[in-house]
Amino acid sequence: MTEMLYKPEPAIDEHVDLYEVDKARVACSGEDPELFFPIGETTPTARQTISEAKAICMGCVVVEKCREYALQRPEDYGIWGGMTESERKAERRRRKSA
Ligand code: SF4
Repeated sequence: MTEMLYKPEPAIDEHVDLYEVDKARVACSGEDPELFFPIGETTPTARQTISEAKAICMGCVVVEKCREYALQRPEDYGIWGGMTESERKAERRRRKSA
């Protein structure tokens, strides 16, 4: 099992300030923050958690801003804008090579 060395604060409060939207409009508001910070990505439990978090993100009014925010900073952990840690790393590599 992969151990989480750093657990960020739940993204929800930060999102509210960041995107200047009412907390009620951010789709992860009221959701369990643990859903957005699964341990690892490959276990059946992690895959299920990721799937649930992504589904929530896809219904969020700030999904694109959230994804880009996480891509533009060293946000290594968690699901942001429907994108996992490994997906962000791959996207950063893709952008560097473009
Ligand atoms: S895109 Fe996902 S993580 Fe970002 S604010 Fe919306 S629900 Fe939360």
